Amino acid sequence: MSLQGKVALVTGASRGIGAATAVEFAKQGAAVVLAARTLVEIKKNADAINASGGKAVAIACDVSNYADVEAAVAKCEAEFGGLDILVNNAGVIDPIARLADSDPEAWSKVADINYKGVYYGLRAAIPGMEKKGSGTIINISSGAASAALEGWSHYCSTKAAVLSLTMCADKEYRDSGIRVLGLSPGTVATDMQVKIKASGLNPVSQLDPSVHIPADWPGRAIAWLCADDDSSYLGTDVSLKDEATLKKIGLVN
Ligand code: NAP
Repeated sequence: MSLQGKVALVTGASRGIGAATAVEFAKQGAAVVLAARTLVEIKKNADAINASGGKAVAIACDVSNYADVEAAVAKCEAEFGGLDILVNNAGVIDPIARLADSDPEAWSKVADINYKGVYYGLRAAIPGMEKKGSGTIINISSGAASAALEGWSHYCSTKAAVLSLTMCADKEYRDSGIRVLGLSPGTVATDMQVKIKASGLNPVSQLDPSVHIPADWPGRAIAWLCADDDSSYLGTDVSLKDEATLKKIGLVN
């Protein structure tokens, strides 16, 4: 129970990596606030955690709306007395399209969610953590942050921006006791990979689904990074494609 007594906010917790992270946090003793747009799904996930002896609540939250993100942080305070861990996980990849075929409004919406949503999380959570002198923020990144993939200009560029936010926030707040780091999970068997496969564009869509890792692996890695007090990963993206890291976390032998 390495996260015993901690309070965590996970965005994008209605399914996939976010849902698995919320379950892992609860297993390790943290109280969890699950945030996403689909209230019925996050409520179901929170109910399942409570039914198995954990502590969780759900709040409808669109991370592209700052007031929603502020309300989610306030919910942590109101329900559980504070916020120790924020996982900026909410993210989208669709619509996948080459630049000339992309819809400017849809492209901008992805930027609002993937990039501004992470800034909103940092902006809302940091003041309380700074006052306490402690806290961990994990921004979910991607190998796409430092790669170019056909049809993914919105996704690659927003994930590059997320890595930049991780570095900037670490630079500004490490000395205040706030740990900020990124996680690049590799390819994970979630709805996002189903959408990628359906696009038929670029080599990622050609991958056999059997190569994807299960969503509980990043969930366990995120919990491990939150419990660890090693500072070597701060301000960087930790990659789950790195065998040595997987071993260190205990995901492979
Ligand atoms: P997923 O299964 O599609 O889940 C995405 C989650 O984000 C859902 O809970 C969704 O909930 C939430 N979300 C989307 N837009 C939102 C918004 N505006 N406000 C709040 N929540 C929102 O995808 P996933 O694979 O778990 O992805 C999670 C994160 O991992 C993303 O940041 C993604 O970029 C990253 N990642 C995934 C992979 C992979 O292979 N799967 C690889 C690298 C990085 P609602 O729709 O209910 O809002």
